[in-house]
Amino acid sequence: MSDTDGRETLGFQTEVRQLMQLMIHSLYSNKEIFLRELISNASDAADRLRFQALASPDLTKEDPELKIRISFNVDAGTITVADNGIGMSREELIGNLGTIARSGTAEFLQQMTGDQKKDAKLIGQFGVGFYSAFIVADRVEVVSLKAGQSADAGVRWESDGQGEFTVDSAKDIERGTTVTLHIKEDEKEFLDSFRLESLIRKYSDHIAFPVLLSNETDDDKEEKSVNAATALWTRGRKDVSADEYKEFYKHLAHDFTDPLIWSHNKVEGTREYTSLLFIPATAPFDLWNREAPKGLKLYVQRVFIMDDAEQFLPLYLRFVRGVVDSTDLPLNVSREMLQQDPDLDAMRGALTRRVIDMLSKMASSDAENYAKFWLEFGQTIKEGVVEDKQNADKLMKLLRFATTRADSDKQDQSLQDYVSRMADGQDKIYYIVAESYALATASPHLEQLRDKGLEVLLLHDRIDPWMVDSLTEFDGKNFQDVGKGQLSLPEGDGEMTQDAIDDEHKPLLKKIRKILKEKVENVQVSRRLVDSPACVVTADQDLAPQLRRMLEASGQSLPESKPVLEINIDHPLVQRLAAEADENRFSELSRIVLDHALLAEGAQLDNPAAYVRRMNKYLLDIESESQSP
Ligand code: ADP
Ligand code: MG
Repeated sequence: MSDTDGRETLGFQTEVRQLMQLMIHSLYSNKEIFLRELISNASDAADRLRFQALASPDLTKEDPELKIRISFNVDAGTITVADNGIGMSREELIGNLGTIARSGTAEFLQQMTGDQKKDAKLIGQFGVGFYSAFIVADRVEVVSLKAGQSADAGVRWESDGQGEFTVDSAKDIERGTTVTLHIKEDEKEFLDSFRLESLIRKYSDHIAFPVLLSNETDDDKEEKSVNAATALWTRGRKDVSADEYKEFYKHLAHDFTDPLIWSHNKVEGTREYTSLLFIPATAPFDLWNREAPKGLKLYVQRVFIMDDAEQFLPLYLRFVRGVVDSTDLPLNVSREMLQQDPDLDAMRGALTRRVIDMLSKMASSDAENYAKFWLEFGQTIKEGVVEDKQNADKLMKLLRFATTRADSDKQDQSLQDYVSRMADGQDKIYYIVAESYALATASPHLEQLRDKGLEVLLLHDRIDPWMVDSLTEFDGKNFQDVGKGQLSLPEGDGEMTQDAIDDEHKPLLKKIRKILKEKVENVQVSRRLVDSPACVVTADQDLAPQLRRMLEASGQSLPESKPVLEINIDHPLVQRLAAEADENRFSELSRIVLDHALLAEGAQLDNPAAYVRRMNKYLLDIESESQSP
């Protein structure tokens, strides 16, 4: 085994190289976060060891007091962050400090633009971790001994961050990990006790382990305790400042941006626990990735148990970050046990309501922040409306929409807003679903409603067809898809039924129907159109065309369904059609009218080339007609 016990030089994974390059360039105004990341790792390492020591008390017997020791040496130009936590084996060092395990990283890094401001924001969402050491250091040494191994089983890792690192075995090592940064020439300002102390306090006051600072060039090398060393969530709400909550969030979430809002609660009852939940201001790059880490950090009686405990919140609330500290879960609780715990449902229900209440409060009292939230996470709330029937009423109030009221795709109108503006006699909430905002707002289906001053919700997110499908009513009002079935508007055409109107134009409708019978279910006189000659409408019981197209794109085969063609009897083009004596031209124009209705609704034509040929011919015919004497 001499080759793996001895010195080896290895290359960083490509993603790590890219990340380090980007970080060094984009984080120059946030350099000091390297300390947060290293303290955070040391605290995690102590947490993990304390957890393992529950089952194997021997692990901490000789050195039971877990702590983080930071020192600096002006002469040597170094800052050292040492912990007596879990430590790393050789394999772990190579894996943890040479690769990034998080899936989707490569794609994420490709989004980097080279624009420092934008990239800093992106990288902030990603969380930079250990590699941030290379922002201020041109050489980093890590010496580690895994808990439970003999002092000779240590490992030394070293790199200049330029693409390679070396690992070597090390003897006479104490348990835990020591990271030594050789500070770059122009970053020497960090080698200062005031600077370090204030940074460490900022980044570690909420950490449950003592953080000690010493100056190695001082004669006495006295270690000074810098933080309060109590886990933040165990303190009373009144004893924690907003800044402390924010720093704690950044530590927890590896985020650069302050959270939008948080909620800190102690629950006493059948289950006793403390929860501290945060709503981030920016979505992580992998919010839509199924394998992305999600869930809360679980502690039992202040002992860290696991990261990413998914069992405490439903999937749609995966953007919530936070801590749950339970008094009465067993210390040896595992993911499997959590899944089977009969009391967990109640806890999950309570935490879910807590998040929804927090969002409701923000929506009503802080519209500006809520708008930010909606932009980042609105689609997950839409998922919630579909999945969480129990809280659907509250979730519906959190929805925000673009509507025909404004000329903007900004989703900023609530259902309450809409209902409060409903016209006299209006008993339905009108909406339209389309593939894009442009398609929605230009849809012929809106014409009559616009004319009558009726507001319509414009839905164009991918999830919208599913979401509206699950909406039944809001505030006693039903929802009506303006592109579907019979459209009943509050006033005006109430007297005549569809049949009566169609009856008046029977011969024309019959003639068109005969030509288009392969493609449409029926042809009717429209009561929705003002400016357009025609539109296609889906039968009430049929899938909305957007949903159908999505399902078909995902490989599902669906029973065929044909739309209804509605024609605007007052439109000059339809009047021309009605007056067309030439059979052939009547047929061509009918097909063109249908194809235009399909195009306007966002559909792909079955045969675009045939359409273009037909259209060209028709245009030329008109031209030659108008030129002929
Ligand atoms: P993250 O902390 O988000 O996982 P990092 O880049 O900060 O990402 O660290 C990568 C991994 O390296 C950690 O998950 C951990 O397994 C390991 N690690 C880093 N620092 C330490 C340490 N001081 N003690 C033990 N393990 C560590
Ligand atoms: Mg880390």
